Amino acid sequence: MAEPSEHRDSATRALLMEAARRAADYRDGDAVRGRPSMGYGEAVEAFEGELPVEGEEAQAVLDALVRAAEPGLHPATGPRFFGWVIGNSHPMGVAADWLASAWGQNTANHVAAPAAAAAETVAARWLLELLALPAQCSVGFVTGATMANFVGLAAARGEVLRRAGWDVAAHGLFGAPCVRVLIGADAHSTVPSVLGHLGFGRESIVRVPTDTQGAICPEAFERALAESGEGPLIVATQAGQLNTGAFDPHDVLVPMAQARGAWVHVDGAFGLWARACPSRAGLAHGVELADSWASDGHKWLQTPFDSGYAIVRDGEAHRRAMTIAASYLPPVREAERDPSHLVPELSRRARGFATWALLRHFGRDGMAAMVERHCALARRLADRLAAEPGIAVLNEVVLNQILVRFGDGAGVEADDAATLATIAAIQADGTCFAGGAKWRGRWAMRVSVIGYSTTEEDIDRSARAMIAAWRSVASAAAQG
Ligand SMILES: *Cc1c(COP(=O)(O)O)cnc(C)c1O
Repeated sequence: MAEPSEHRDSATRALLMEAARRAADYRDGDAVRGRPSMGYGEAVEAFEGELPVEGEEAQAVLDALVRAAEPGLHPATGPRFFGWVIGNSHPMGVAADWLASAWGQNTANHVAAPAAAAAETVAARWLLELLALPAQCSVGFVTGATMANFVGLAAARGEVLRRAGWDVAAHGLFGAPCVRVLIGADAHSTVPSVLGHLGFGRESIVRVPTDTQGAICPEAFERALAESGEGPLIVATQAGQLNTGAFDPHDVLVPMAQARGAWVHVDGAFGLWARACPSRAGLAHGVELADSWASDGHKWLQTPFDSGYAIVRDGEAHRRAMTIAASYLPPVREAERDPSHLVPELSRRARGFATWALLRHFGRDGMAAMVERHCALARRLADRLAAEPGIAVLNEVVLNQILVRFGDGAGVEADDAATLATIAAIQADGTCFAGGAKWRGRWAMRVSVIGYSTTEEDIDRSARAMIAAWRSVASAAAQG
């Protein structure tokens, strides 16, 4: 009989090798996989069962997990997946992330996890260099841009109140001077949401009017600034609007806001990566003047979920907002960067490994080329679609996002119905995936070209499938 330790070692190896084999098998199917064959209800059935009294053997559980999950998986790692704004979980990032799980490091601080904390230190420096942001900034590795917005705006809240003589960490918000918050009318929904967590209700936020593309209008911004009074002020701008890809005019807005004493936070969940691409960097001109930034790894950098970056120019304001201190934790020091001083969590996964690995794998040139390619592919798809009668591209395709409307122009309601029917037909066909959203009160199809594996051929195939879906909807309507 095998020694217990021997048995344990060989069982561990067999299990992890089997998981790797299953994962590789799944990814082999990326290029051909269509829509999920089951929806949520059936997926619950697939996972259903009584809580086991006796535990099951690990390989059997793994097998059951794969069988239950795979029919309900969206082809989000595939080359023709254009839903939401979702990176493809690049295999390099997946491999590094597997190791992060296998190594089991609690990346709260540099004592508990020296290597994981160090990887974040170096990845943070690389990120600042690639995104052309000030080298002095501190970077917190969070779950995504939602939490990155939270951290940046928490630092903003603490600092504008500190300048007004109020210590929010000590006294909270009750009785504090009134803080005004300006955001764009087309800000991402996570911005008002995290402002709510920070104690700023919807009514206390001023939404500044935007142009046809969703970018803040400078004249309206100037008026909003003038009306914001003298007190503490936070401005949240956007680099990359979720639907259109538009950028607020940072080179104009940021100096205006800072002259008024505001802290400017930039939501650049995917758009900040334009700065890594010389031909697109101009879109984000002036972004570097801001005080804090939010971005995602799991969008354009293609890391697996969940990975985002909270970047703050004033490291002290950043740490004041986030530091978790206790006698059993290492003291706050400058020399070693402790992840838990820059994010809301204490125990957390080693997110730096995947970011470090992907930055090293792509390099500066690879990142620039990928962003460039996605923007060119978006332009190509937009041109293909716009050439078809009854299909209109609603936005200026400056980046990787396309908004498409279907219909023969018979009226808003008829075209809304045609657009929703075409989206449903595209999803049912399964060649590619895109979803819908309302833009300026009308339904449109949203296309986000952001997967590392998408090629010209994928774009052309997708264009043909989208046009065919529209033609079938149009001819059914003509007959009906
Ligand atoms: C995706 C996105 C967010 C939210 O990021 P998560 O990674 O989902 O937390 C915020 N702002 C913008 C502009 C986005 O595109």
